[in-house]
Amino acid sequence: MNDYEQAAILKPITPEYDPWDPIRSLRQHGRHVLTSVEFTVTNLCNMRCEHCAVGDALTMTEGARIPIADLIRRLDEVEHLETISITGGEPSYLEKTVKEYIVPLLKYARERGVRTQINSNVTLDLSRYERMAPYLDVMHISFNYTDADDFHRVGFVHAGHPVGRDTAVKMYERMIDNARALSKGGMFVSAESMINFRTHEKIVDIHRLIGEMGCVRHEVHPMYPSAFAANLPKLSLEEIRASIHRLLDGRDPDMWMLFGTLPFFACGGEEADLELVRRMRSEPKVTVRNDPDGRNRLNVNMFTGDVFVTDFADLSSLGNVATDSLDGIFDKWLEHPLSRMVNCHCDAVACCGPNLLVADAYYRDVDFMKRRAIV
Ligand code: SF4
Repeated sequence: MNDYEQAAILKPITPEYDPWDPIRSLRQHGRHVLTSVEFTVTNLCNMRCEHCAVGDALTMTEGARIPIADLIRRLDEVEHLETISITGGEPSYLEKTVKEYIVPLLKYARERGVRTQINSNVTLDLSRYERMAPYLDVMHISFNYTDADDFHRVGFVHAGHPVGRDTAVKMYERMIDNARALSKGGMFVSAESMINFRTHEKIVDIHRLIGEMGCVRHEVHPMYPSAFAANLPKLSLEEIRASIHRLLDGRDPDMWMLFGTLPFFACGGEEADLELVRRMRSEPKVTVRNDPDGRNRLNVNMFTGDVFVTDFADLSSLGNVATDSLDGIFDKWLEHPLSRMVNCHCDAVACCGPNLLVADAYYRDVDFMKRRAIV
């Protein structure tokens, strides 16, 4: 069977089937299991966004990676592997990385029936992304702009030197052209926007541009204070709620909207929170994904082999692929006091608790283990 035939028999990724959502494996196995592995394939990037969640980890040069065969051996051991994510930096920054690491990983996944996502800014040569296309399930891009000036304002804040408007405009246009071309070619392009102090009032305009690029899905997350975003203004819960309502009012009803890492739960808070939770649960083509980090996913650094709960956690490494199996590291994480702190589960509302950053940013005094869903 060739790659295209293999792709044709894989179950389509839809609002009803999101293999990254940890609620699925929790229901299936009766406990959290490792189904998802994320690889940080590079710390190089051609941008330095104001809000970058890996921010300080970005570098100008980098050394050798662990041999791909060793990484694949570790993946082979993961009993319930369902998804692989590839992240950076900009994963396609060097063509060599695409050829020697990304495509082999994607091919491995496709042969095993494992679904794949890559997080990219799609501002480089289209050919790099086309090379991945036959084996890739989701091309995940960041999109937080209403025009090229917005992109210029946000995309190079931490560059350490001024980046001219002309350069930024060219990159912005290439990003839009690439997203359009990939969508037109049949790729599942999912654009993620953050709700933050810059975007919350113009989120509907951003959504419209995402639709014009032909994206299948618009993914929306509030911004949390991590890495470069640590010192940016934090929105109030009220502002985040208002922005989500604005988006739900103004969205294209035919586009899948995926919300993630939300600070609103079916177990309480204000009546306005519960009202929003009810609305999101009843709107067609709107899903709320439980956060995979530490629930069904671990992050592997391809240079050191260190394994983390997320690619941007301040938590130190939980183990290393040189000495530990990924399933073993994951089981150890489930026993960690931080993991236990937010390990709640209300099946009736398909919720398995808050992300750690969310709990820390908005709910420091709340013990989620004592709460239950009330909607
Ligand atoms: S699983 Fe946790 S966060 Fe979700 S509704 Fe229940 S108690 Fe609240």
